[in-house]
Amino acid sequence: MKALVYSAPGQFAVSETPTPQPRATEVLMRVHACGVCKTDLHIHQGHFFSAFPLIPGHEFAGEVAAVGPEVTRVRPGDRVVADNERQCGYCAYCRRGEPLFCENLYAQGVNAPGGFAEYVLVDERQVYPLDEQVSYLEGALAEPTACAVHGLDVIRPRVGDEVLLFGAGPTGLILAQLLRRSGVSRLVVVDLSAKKLDLAARLAGAEIVQPDPVHPTAHLDRLAADMPAGFDIVIDATGVSKVAAGLPQFARYGGKIVFYGVCPENERIEISPYEVFRRELTILGSFSQALTFDRATRLVNGGAVQVKEMVTHTFPLEGWGDALRMVSDGRESVKIVITP
Ligand SMILES: [Zn+2]
Ligand SMILES: [Zn+2]
Repeated sequence: MKALVYSAPGQFAVSETPTPQPRATEVLMRVHACGVCKTDLHIHQGHFFSAFPLIPGHEFAGEVAAVGPEVTRVRPGDRVVADNERQCGYCAYCRRGEPLFCENLYAQGVNAPGGFAEYVLVDERQVYPLDEQVSYLEGALAEPTACAVHGLDVIRPRVGDEVLLFGAGPTGLILAQLLRRSGVSRLVVVDLSAKKLDLAARLAGAEIVQPDPVHPTAHLDRLAADMPAGFDIVIDATGVSKVAAGLPQFARYGGKIVFYGVCPENERIEISPYEVFRRELTILGSFSQALTFDRATRLVNGGAVQVKEMVTHTFPLEGWGDALRMVSDGRESVKIVITP
């Protein structure tokens, strides 16, 4: 099969590799769509817990091509998406019901073969059905949706909460839709891209704020003036440390501050412990997902989360270099999907 293979960070080629054969409870998927995300860029740069050589791609949808002899729940020809992660089940975290922190995580596209290939091998327990009316391109957004479902589990918004969200990339847009559906009374989304803000307004009913490049902090002053008491929930989905550092000033007394975007590992921000104490702020982190695919695929299949319009570009495997440039620039595209 054809696959995008990294021999080391930054070193990639589309090459011919053996097509894996499903054994026991394994399922061989013919990949029709695999989403590109910032994590792939971090892996490319060597800034993630990835292992090489590696076939990246952790957001895949496709068709069951073959199954191992013990598989009972799917058949060749079934349309599916697959959770890219498999927890060990026996580490201390797994045995405490905290699979997100599994110490022996098998994460396809990160430390195990992923979906930037014609075929990917998964276990039956990772597979979820993709409805007939939902395209494979949309199916590729099931993984980011699973991450947003986890985000919502962490944030636990209350009906009527007022929310400020910085960043309208794909996971930000999905999070915005889930927040809106969970009954928040006000959702304000800030992003540099007019295209992303338009999606936030239409898909999540958000009030949108676009910073003025000439006066890059004017919108922050306006937000502060508009909500002098602050928001119940303030979220960074940009992964820009400077934005993350500014969250506390927009939170009301008793509010929640959420680090949802992936900031560079070595950067630091200043937080006033007195302010967290005096105003009883809650600081939350939301990382990846574990066992939220079941709910995520129901949301995508049922149309409760709209992802179709988020896919702005598709590339074949050979277009990986262009896809990478586009995702690192981030201005032109919303979601890029590879169609192997
Ligand atoms: Zn991702
Ligand atoms: Zn474990």
